Amino acid sequence: MFETDASQKPGSMIDPFGRHVTYLRVSVTDRCDFRCVYCMSENMTFLPKKEILTLEELERVCSAFIAKGVRRLRLTGGEPLVRRNIMSLVHSLGQKIETGDLDELTVTTNGSQLARFADELYDAGVRRINVSMDTMDADKFKAITRWGDLGKVMAGIDAAQAAGLQVKINAVALKGVNEDELEEMIRWAHGRGMDFTIIETMPLGDIDGDRTDQYLPLSVVRARLMDSFSLEDIPYKTGGPARYVGIKETGGRLGFITPMTHNFCESCNRVRLTCTGTLYMCLGQEDAADLKAPLRRSEGNDLLYAAIDEAISRKPKGHDFVIDRRSNRPAVGRHMSVTGG
Ligand code: SAM
Ligand code: SF4
Repeated sequence: MFETDASQKPGSMIDPFGRHVTYLRVSVTDRCDFRCVYCMSENMTFLPKKEILTLEELERVCSAFIAKGVRRLRLTGGEPLVRRNIMSLVHSLGQKIETGDLDELTVTTNGSQLARFADELYDAGVRRINVSMDTMDADKFKAITRWGDLGKVMAGIDAAQAAGLQVKINAVALKGVNEDELEEMIRWAHGRGMDFTIIETMPLGDIDGDRTDQYLPLSVVRARLMDSFSLEDIPYKTGGPARYVGIKETGGRLGFITPMTHNFCESCNRVRLTCTGTLYMCLGQEDAADLKAPLRRSEGNDLLYAAIDEAISRKPKGHDFVIDRRSNRPAVGRHMSVTGG
């Protein structure tokens, strides 16, 4: 049941465990111009276009969440920058920053389209972006992403920094693939003034390979990095699930996202909306709420607000991911590209 707090403005979202929901991640498309091996199978079936919310509908749902207390919003996907006309949504959400209704609008991207969009993202009010890049070796990059081109991503990162965007690099730790490169990548990112975050692979969706072959616990990564670096705990927080340390030798920040070895659910402040208007209250659980029907049923937002409240009252305490040989199947059936990272 809801816990009420007089200091909260009416309509704000507080889950059954007293956590305030102030962060919305929106997957604006399930499509992508890459096919990363840990994220998608090579022959993905994408959603029929008619099931996907229009950009105007996405804007309406985002505005409803902002009215209910969301202060930070991240656009993700699929690849958000491949959705046609996506900048119109970015501009309209950017205006909410100008009016003080939103603190921050961020984007998670594979970087392939950044050279084209970096300036416009900045103009629209975006100040921080995450670029996913698991290796700096062009051949390995092709092998991991199947369809990606490292040169384009690098050019995108250059353009983003030139535009004034603060860039964070996200890398998924992959056993036997990039584990020997992480130190060099951290030095490179920090040398360019970019934070670096390492992510554990999560068991989401069927992929072509066996996840136990990819899984590399970050406790192992961290122990290895400590041979070369002095890691210092720092209080830095971005509102996301990463825990940061400072590296003395580089002067930069290193984040760890460790859903498998260290549960981060207790401080979870976020929910995730898919491009079909489905709201997931937890990345690691199947339970979801449909917001498309209440959105389309009426022009006013009362039905939508009621559906959001009902969904938040079901936000679970946490996920229970396990990757092991015995249960060699994903913890949840949907892919990361559906709910967004
Ligand atoms: N296409 C954009 C990108 O790659 O940044 C945004 C969406 S992508 C799903 C968001 C993040 O999720 C990426 O950093 C990606 O590496 C990560 N990711 C995808 N599948 C994952 C998995 N099974 N486990 C952990 N991270 C995953
Ligand atoms: Fe596309 Fe991002 Fe998934 Fe890679 S991780 S396939 S870039 S959605």
